[in-house]
Amino acid sequence: MAVETRIIQPDQLEEAVTLLKQGECVAFPTETVYGLGANALDAKAVAGIFAAKGRPADNPLIVHIYSLDQVMDLVGDYHPLANTLMERFWPGPLSLVLPKSHRIPDIVSAGLDTVAIRMPDHDLALELLQRANLPVAAPSANISGSPSPTRAEHVLQDLNGRIPLIVDGGPTGWGVESTVLDCTCLPFRILRPGGVTVEQLQQVAEIAVDPSVFHNGVVEKPRSPGMKYKHYAPKAEVVLVLGDRIQEKINLLAHSPEFAGRKLGVLAASEHLEAYSGLTVFDMGPELEPKIAASRLYNLLRTVDQQGLDVVFVEGFTENEIGMALMNRLRKAAGNRVIQS
Ligand code: AMP
Ligand code: MG
Repeated sequence: MAVETRIIQPDQLEEAVTLLKQGECVAFPTETVYGLGANALDAKAVAGIFAAKGRPADNPLIVHIYSLDQVMDLVGDYHPLANTLMERFWPGPLSLVLPKSHRIPDIVSAGLDTVAIRMPDHDLALELLQRANLPVAAPSANISGSPSPTRAEHVLQDLNGRIPLIVDGGPTGWGVESTVLDCTCLPFRILRPGGVTVEQLQQVAEIAVDPSVFHNGVVEKPRSPGMKYKHYAPKAEVVLVLGDRIQEKINLLAHSPEFAGRKLGVLAASEHLEAYSGLTVFDMGPELEPKIAASRLYNLLRTVDQQGLDVVFVEGFTENEIGMALMNRLRKAAGNRVIQS
């Protein structure tokens, strides 16, 4: 049966605290994207997250905490270098995959013997976690496969009638999900790039990047189960264009027979907005500022659908720093449609 979904403001946070303690799911903002949280120690509560999102049962959840003191209870023995990373990067967009303790129900870790943990860098999220005084399992608060929500209204678009409450904290900061770092192997390995970059992590430890990060579309057996699904994709077909002559290539493609009669759009850097004819153009921000592009990406992908476009071309960005996370999400959204210019 459908539930009524209410949106509350930060000064009504107590309602969210109460629901979490009662084993319900609540959507709340973090510095990355909106999360859909439930008590991580309560298997039934966590089952509610999978049901609301339509999330495959083999895709594990990230557990959110507000204090380093909570870690010990949730994990088994781990490499001390992980402590250095916690001290340096928490609170922040870095999820550490560690051996799990018996307190974490199997549903949270999707049957793996590891668990991903992070401390979000967002006042409202931290206050919610602290007042509930629980570890909270929280994936992105979208229907599985669609672009992650960066505003309360995105959560409502996807989960209206499926969850009781959304805490509206305004637009999120980073706009892409956390970096997922496997700390159960040496060197530690990035399974999903995010706000904490390889360059930053490498200042503290030797870091490997899993090849799936650079893979288009679906990977059959990734170390991070979530990365095998088509992700972050709007209903419109996404065509990612890379190389030195991107604008020229997109204009050529847009006027080719393959795309005739279809409603076309392009996500372009601010410098190139005038370069296109016959397409609806969306501004990703300056070419050399992938951080701005990352913060706009999911909202733009949702806007593309709202405008009823059939196809959206996307200009590739450079892959360094936060650009690695941006390009990873774009490759996943594009599936097999990655074209070199
Ligand atoms: P989401 O919560 O929607 O941002 O997705 C969480 C991501 O973290 C997915 O890609 C998961 O596969 C990954 N993840 C969570 N827990 C683990 C784990 N124990 N081992 C590997 N990857 C994980
Ligand atoms: Mg997600």
